[in-house]
Amino acid sequence: MKTLSSRIEIIQGDITKLDVDAIVNAANSSLLGGGGVDGAIHRAGGSEILEACKKIVSEQGGCQTGEAVITSAGNLLSKFVIHTVGPVWHGGKNGEHDKLASCYINSLQLAVINDCKSIAFPNISTGVYGYPKAQAAQIAVSTVSGFLSKNGEIEKVIFACFDEENYRLVQQQLDVLIMYS
Ligand code: ADP
Repeated sequence: MKTLSSRIEIIQGDITKLDVDAIVNAANSSLLGGGGVDGAIHRAGGSEILEACKKIVSEQGGCQTGEAVITSAGNLLSKFVIHTVGPVWHGGKNGEHDKLASCYINSLQLAVINDCKSIAFPNISTGVYGYPKAQAAQIAVSTVSGFLSKNGEIEKVIFACFDEENYRLVQQQLDVLIMYS
């Protein structure tokens, strides 16, 4: 198996442009679309994604915070969109840490079940949900690296950071990971 750090990449840019097996959407619990990365994914992927989300809503209701569901990816290059619902930041004493970590773990598990070898994540919860970016970056990198070290199926995880600050903070966490691996 390749080294852990060689299985993790970071880019600054638009997640909808990536050619990976699955991209992750920072959705809301209604699954019916919203702003930010959710809006960008639905715009770029077309109505097929919303139709697939509506089907899931009719079968199981929406999606709880920390959980994830998978749909096809419409016009996107990826095969799947994994929709996960990040926690809204309420000061940090309301289970935000564990719920954010669950988003990453449940998304990775769905990717494995669906034979995905590559997956890209946005910086979940760091937009309108207000999670402090430094803490979110630490959780993202430690959770993903912990999962990859125990699971060999996924060959590549890409952190797609839209803004400069998230890019810098995630890069810092990856530097720490490389130092200790
Ligand atoms: P949340 O509600 O989980 O906070 P947002 O979509 O508001 O979700 O923000 C999550 C992150 O997604 C933010 O860091 C935002 O900059 C980023 N983002 C917005 N558009 C895109 C995009 N096209 N590709 C990747 N990341 C994006």
